[in-house]
Amino acid sequence: MALRYFCTTNISTQHHHHASVITLVSSSLSLTSTRMQNSIPAARNSKNKFITAENVKSLVSTVVLPSISSTPLESLHRGNWVKLICGASFEDVVDIRNLSLVYTLAGVDCIDCAADASVLSAVNEGIEAARDIVCLRRPWVMISVNDDKDLHFRKAEFDPEDCPADCSRPCENVCPANAITFQGKSTSVISHNTEAPRVLKDGVITERCYGCGRCLPVCPYDKIREVTYVRDAITTADLIKRNDVDAMEIHTSGR
Ligand code: SF4
Ligand code: SF4
Repeated sequence: MALRYFCTTNISTQHHHHASVITLVSSSLSLTSTRMQNSIPAARNSKNKFITAENVKSLVSTVVLPSISSTPLESLHRGNWVKLICGASFEDVVDIRNLSLVYTLAGVDCIDCAADASVLSAVNEGIEAARDIVCLRRPWVMISVNDDKDLHFRKAEFDPEDCPADCSRPCENVCPANAITFQGKSTSVISHNTEAPRVLKDGVITERCYGCGRCLPVCPYDKIREVTYVRDAITTADLIKRNDVDAMEIHTSGR
């Protein structure tokens, strides 16, 4: 079994000395931790041009990367352990891969993600892409699970067909993850890996919704529902057998 560490509470992230790398590379990829772009391919920048590993490598070469000598465990003991929280419910593999790449380059100690096989693969792809660019130690990969109702494990949902045509759509404006879309009809976007078009439907883009709840109170017609869920224990058991999972965070009610 690959899993090495458990925790049952969130450990706060701290400012990291590699913030310049995060700013430089993430702005080139149009990524921030709070406002992320619509489902675009991992390797497109704000001008919708492809960013290759070579582009990232050349960007990274313009900043001085402090060497990272401590292991994640040593950082934990020293009290300067830093974790990227992708979100227990955030499942957009394109953004997750990009974030993992950028934060690995920045020297983060751990990447926390949803307990989902595709998400885990995206995190590890991002880590390995970063390690192909610069020789770095690997951050821990942590999955987040729950055993009871928990606000981190929920999605918003509504039927756009039920929305009055004259609604000003405050839900769309308030969503920090660009997880609510109204294109008027189905739209084709390029999907992760395959570059094949996939259909983006109106309403909540489930994989992008991380359950923050901001949209729930703003709907003047009370159309948005909260859907909570509990991660399946058997799926979790399979995930922790993988060699690319190092730790698990359990959101528990203590029952
Ligand atoms: S809960 Fe609503 S506002 Fe929050 S990420 Fe999901 S769709 Fe967006
Ligand atoms: S605010 Fe409510 S009614 Fe208006 S578009 Fe959003 S979900 Fe539909």
